[in-house]
Amino acid sequence: MKRIVLLGGGHAHLFVLEAFARQRPDADVLMITPDALTPYSGMMPGVIAGHYRAREACIDLRPLAARAGCRLHFDLAIGIDAAQRCVVLASGARVDYDLLSVDTGSTPRLPAVPGVGHGHPVKPIGRLEMHWRRVLAQQPSSAVVVGAGAAGVEIVMALRQRCPGMHCSLVDSNAQLLAGMAPGLRRRVGAQLRRQQIDLLTGCTLDHVGQGRVVLADGRMMNSDFTVWTTGAAAPDWLHDGALALDARGFIETAGTLQSTSHPEVFAAGDVASVRSAPRPKSGVYAVRAGPHLAANLRRALAGMALQPWQAQQRALMLLACGRQHAIAARGGWSLQGDWVWRWKDWIDRAFIARFDPLARAAQS
Ligand SMILES: Cc1cc2nc3c(=O)[nH]c(=O)nc-3n(C[C@H](O)[C@H](O)[C@H](O)COP(=O)(O)OP(=O)(O)OC[C@H]3O[C@@H](n4cnc5c(N)ncnc54)[C@H](O)[C@@H]3O)c2cc1C
Repeated sequence: MKRIVLLGGGHAHLFVLEAFARQRPDADVLMITPDALTPYSGMMPGVIAGHYRAREACIDLRPLAARAGCRLHFDLAIGIDAAQRCVVLASGARVDYDLLSVDTGSTPRLPAVPGVGHGHPVKPIGRLEMHWRRVLAQQPSSAVVVGAGAAGVEIVMALRQRCPGMHCSLVDSNAQLLAGMAPGLRRRVGAQLRRQQIDLLTGCTLDHVGQGRVVLADGRMMNSDFTVWTTGAAAPDWLHDGALALDARGFIETAGTLQSTSHPEVFAAGDVASVRSAPRPKSGVYAVRAGPHLAANLRRALAGMALQPWQAQQRALMLLACGRQHAIAARGGWSLQGDWVWRWKDWIDRAFIARFDPLARAAQS
C-alpha cells in the first residue's frame, strides 16, 4: 500500500483530512505535526485581546484525523531527503513516503539586531500567546510591536485592548504603515492607532533590544515589557539542503497542480509554497483556497490520473481586527469598517473552526 505523508497541520491539510474523511483513499495516510491542537491565526489577535479563550481558536486534529483514517505523529521535520523520498524528523527518525504534501507555514523573518532573543516572534502563534499570558500575569506597563504589516497592527491593537493602561508602540523601518496596501486602508488603520493612543514610529530602524527595552538607531529608548516581532514571513531554513526546487525567497516552488517543480511526488500548499506561474502573498486565505485542490490532486496522483491545475484568485478580502470588537474590511482599493464588520469576521472565524472541530464549538457556548 502506498504511503501519503502530510507534513504540517496547516490550513490546506485541514481540507485534505476533511476530503479523506468523506472518502478514504486506498493508502496509508500519516500526518506529522508538532501538536494535536493547531491554532487558527485569524482568531489569535482576538485571544490576546481577551475576546476568545485559546482553545476556541484552535482545531483539534485528532478527531478529524481519526475520521480520515490518518495516523498522527507528533514531531517536527528538520529536512526532506527528496532523493531518498523521506522526511527527516527532529527526533532522529526518518519517514519514507510515496507521496509527500507539505503545509508547514512560514517562519518569522527576524531582524539582525543584537538582543533579538528578548522579543517574541509572532509565529508559532500558539507560543506567542503562551508568552503573553505569562507577561500579562505580571501586569505589564509597556509593549513594543516591531513590524507594521497586517499582523503587527492587529497584535498591537489587541494588546492595547487587553491592557488599556499599557503604553503601546508600533515600529517599522518603512516610511509607511501597511506598506504596499491601499491608501484607504492605511488611513483607516492610522486613525484607529491614533484613537487608541498607540505610538506609531515609521522610518525607524532598531539599534538593539535588551531586557525590558528597545533602542532605536537614532538613540531613542522605549520601555518594553513585551516585545513582539511581526517582521514578515520567511521560508523555513530546513528546506534549503533538501534538493527540492525553491523560489528566490526559499519557499517550495510548485506548478499549478501544487506539485514541486523538481519532484512531482512532492506537493506543497500554503505559506511554505509558491506557485511559479502565480505567486501570492503569504496569507491564510490562499492556504484555505488551495486545500480542496490539494486533496483532489493527491487523490488523482494516487490513482495515477492526470492532475488538474489551479490558480488562486488575485485579490482576497482582508478583515482586520482593531482590538475592541470593531474591524476593517478591505479588498483591492475599497475598505469599510464597523462593529458589524467585527461580528461578520467573528461569524466567519467561528464557522471555520466549527467546520473542522465541533468540540471547539462546544467550548464557545
Ligand atoms: C497575528 C496573525 C494574524 C493573521 N490573520 C490572518 C487573517 O485574518 N487572514 C489570513 O488570511 N491570514 C492571516 N494571517 C496569516 C496566516 O497565519 C498564514 O498565512 C496561514 O497560517 C498560513 O497557513 P499555512 O497552512 O500555510 O500554515 P500554518 O497555519 O502556519 O500551519 C502550519 C502547520 O505546520 C506545523 N509545522 C510547522 N513547522 C513544522 C515542521 N517543521 N514539521 C512539521 N510540522 C510543522 C505547524 O505546527 C502548523 O500546524 C495571520 C498571521 C498572523 C501572524
